[in-house]
Amino acid sequence: MSLYQPILNALLHYKTIFDQEELTPAKCPEAVNLIHENSFAFISACCLDRGTKAEIIWTIPYWIFQQVGHYDPLRFYSLSLSQISSLFDRLSQKPRYTNAAPRTFQDICRIVVEDFSGHAEKIWKNRSAMDVKRTLLSVYGVGSGIANMSLVLIEGLYQITFSDLDYKNMDIKPDVHTMRVLYRLGVSPSVNEMEAILAARRISPSYSGAIDGPLWSIGRNWCHPANPQCASCPLNSCCERIGL
Ligand code: SF4
Repeated sequence: MSLYQPILNALLHYKTIFDQEELTPAKCPEAVNLIHENSFAFISACCLDRGTKAEIIWTIPYWIFQQVGHYDPLRFYSLSLSQISSLFDRLSQKPRYTNAAPRTFQDICRIVVEDFSGHAEKIWKNRSAMDVKRTLLSVYGVGSGIANMSLVLIEGLYQITFSDLDYKNMDIKPDVHTMRVLYRLGVSPSVNEMEAILAARRISPSYSGAIDGPLWSIGRNWCHPANPQCASCPLNSCCERIGL
């Protein structure tokens, strides 16, 4: 048995009981509804998801909707980059990369309109995971971490099963939560992106991306930077609590 089997078991068990909708948190119910009801809101937030709190990223589509009264890629398509930048400038809370975000938004909008007739869900419907990933990687600013995360979210939220999902090469998307938990567990030697990816592979060699959501949720809900709630944490029985 692998040294990390107890950790893997605990994470996979937690994955079966935690609410998957927690992976797309937003600041108000209206923003959550928009993400779930509007496929372009979902995929544009995925593409913007870098370097900022998840609650801000998943609320950005709703804040834009409030400004313009719609979230329709066909109508955004006619906007220039400077007009899109103005939309982002007026956000009360902004993505971290303020210059890159409008370009990312314009890019995913153009792809949805020109290649998928304005229907974002066509990016993943009846397509292979490799094709979806290729599409997402063609969006400005989207790397393999976001593309992998998007595939996992699409499977969870849209009940799509990709037959060719390359689980072996699906890593976690390292962020402050997953890196901290993997370090405290005693699997990652430091709080570092590459070390976190390697640590997740050690825990779950056949599909390390499978533990991304549970690690992230445990980091948010129990393994706080200060005063972690170890007594009630789902990883309580198998954690080395490094650094505490
Ligand atoms: S047991 Fe404590 S240190 Fe370990 S993951 Fe849970 S909250 Fe973090």
